[in-house]
Amino acid sequence: MIYKIALVKGDGIGPEIVESAVAVLNKIAAKFNHTFKYKDVLAGGCAYDATGHPLPEETLKVCKESDSVLLGAVGGPKWDNLPSHLRPEKALLGLRSALNLYTNLRPATMHPALKDECPLREDITANGFDMVIVRELTGGIYFGENGRRMGPNGKEAYDTECYSVMEVERVGRVAFELAQKRNKKLVSIDKANVLESSRLWRETMHRLAKEYEDVEYSDMLVDNAAMQLIRNPSQFDVVVTSNMFGDILSDEASMITGSIGLLPSASLGSSKCGMYEPIHGSAPDIAGQNKANPIATILSAAMMLRYSFDLAKEADCIEEAVTDVLNAGYRTHDILGNSNKKPLGTREMTKVILDYI
Ligand code: NAD
Repeated sequence: MIYKIALVKGDGIGPEIVESAVAVLNKIAAKFNHTFKYKDVLAGGCAYDATGHPLPEETLKVCKESDSVLLGAVGGPKWDNLPSHLRPEKALLGLRSALNLYTNLRPATMHPALKDECPLREDITANGFDMVIVRELTGGIYFGENGRRMGPNGKEAYDTECYSVMEVERVGRVAFELAQKRNKKLVSIDKANVLESSRLWRETMHRLAKEYEDVEYSDMLVDNAAMQLIRNPSQFDVVVTSNMFGDILSDEASMITGSIGLLPSASLGSSKCGMYEPIHGSAPDIAGQNKANPIATILSAAMMLRYSFDLAKEADCIEEAVTDVLNAGYRTHDILGNSNKKPLGTREMTKVILDYI
């Protein structure tokens, strides 16, 4: 099979880590007899510099025509003072909404070999953890009506959280179906004791739960969920929640795995074309220094094979190689902990992973 992949390298460490993921994809192509055809496109700060816009039309066109999009990261101090519609981050929101990517999957797994990197107590992490946070991505307060006005106390600002039954149902189904493929446990997180939008979210999830009776379903309030992630992360398998709660909780979950440089993500919609990217940003402090951990992007490429191309064996092969490399003690600087080992650079870590595939 031939698969067309749009590469959005972006800014900062983006080009270095996407090159690592492409090297891994090429090795998989050779091993399993596939053809991956890449097209480089600009988005973010580099696109603004080249074209005056963070998301040029050509980029959108190529991404829409591809089978999938692999993205590094966008942004950096150079573009921090641009007006909001020209900021690099606008490219991400533009791509998500143009490709109708309404679900974001963020796995958070503790590799046993990295236990010492986890900031939690040893007795809490003794059982390890392996969860996937399913975040609604194109609705809620980030897309609701907002503005500024004069109120009884003078100038005020507001943002609105609004969810339709349709929006909850479509992300809810993704979460139930994912739970069916894993340990058949799903927790839906909301703030139904206070918010009307959460009450509709909960009602809709309860109705869906009746269709997925093989899944053990429960609700949790978001404030409790923030505590439970620290108190006992191993209780979670699949978690589904709204855009803003998912944004916050998935960063909390990433922190307890040890390093932001390890975690991949997938943004999915109703077609097979998804967008795959590490959860971290463009790390301008280490850009161009061969210091970035490429694992989050390499694992994002594995998610692309699994979710967009249905190549589960190939995805397993990448994930197993990463686990083996970590078990064998190879480290980049962000996961070095107190060890006095010499960290590997981006290119050297990529080479070791290629050798293990
Ligand atoms: P960041 O994730 O880029 O960096 C936070 C810290 O983690 C830094 O010390 C960085 O060196 C380190 N780090 C991140 N990725 C790493 C990796 N792969 N290996 C080793 N260390 C790594 O977050 P930030 O500093 O808050 O943001 C920098 C820029 O990235 C900003 O312009 C921000 O807007 C942008 N950003 C982009 C995305 C995205 O493209 N999806 C996401 C978040 C932030």
